[in-house]
Amino acid sequence: MAGKRIIFATANEDKMTEIRQIMEDLGIEVVSMREAGVFLEVEENGTSFEENALIKAKALCEKSGEITLADDSGLEVDYLNKEPGIYSARYLGRDTPYSKKNAYIIDRLKEAVGEERSARFVCAVAVAFPDGRSEVVRETMEGQIARKEAGVHGFGYDPIFFLPEYGCTSAELSPGEKNKISHRGKALRVMKEKLIELKVLE
Ligand code: IMP
Repeated sequence: MAGKRIIFATANEDKMTEIRQIMEDLGIEVVSMREAGVFLEVEENGTSFEENALIKAKALCEKSGEITLADDSGLEVDYLNKEPGIYSARYLGRDTPYSKKNAYIIDRLKEAVGEERSARFVCAVAVAFPDGRSEVVRETMEGQIARKEAGVHGFGYDPIFFLPEYGCTSAELSPGEKNKISHRGKALRVMKEKLIELKVLE
């Protein structure tokens, strides 16, 4: 198994820290694109989180010739017909500050009450193998859109994502607490089990 590793198709170092923590006991090194010395800009033109994760994983696997993981995530707001969904990062423009994006969503939900405010974070994690095989998993974290922003942790839409069981937003949880229940944490753990099942380590 010496020298065996998995590349994660992300340039985001915060994500890599979380991924490494979760994959730690897998017994195989998980490296970022930078660490692997491979770079790739992929057009995420799929129509679902699963498709986009597979597109990224397969493209980087083809380029690197190594086992590759990739994720795609976003926020689905039921009242807005699941917007912003796969367009979460690009919603209202990629460079628009999240304070604006969050204020816009709160405003569009001003008439929504109770269950109508339901929303979820979704994360798909895909793996692609050099022999052409691939697998994808999808997990969610269910919640509601808050009436105002709260919390300083996390990123993106976390300050408006209210978790009824915790009585706070996901931006009010510590990173460790969020990893335990988050869409990304869950999807990475399910993928880890799949990699063990697929005997990637042998
Ligand atoms: P990507 O998966 O890196 O393409 O990111 C998708 C986008 O979804 C992010 O830029 C955020 O806007 C949003 N998003 C995904 N996961 C989270 C989260 O855990 N908290 C807040 N926003 C998130």
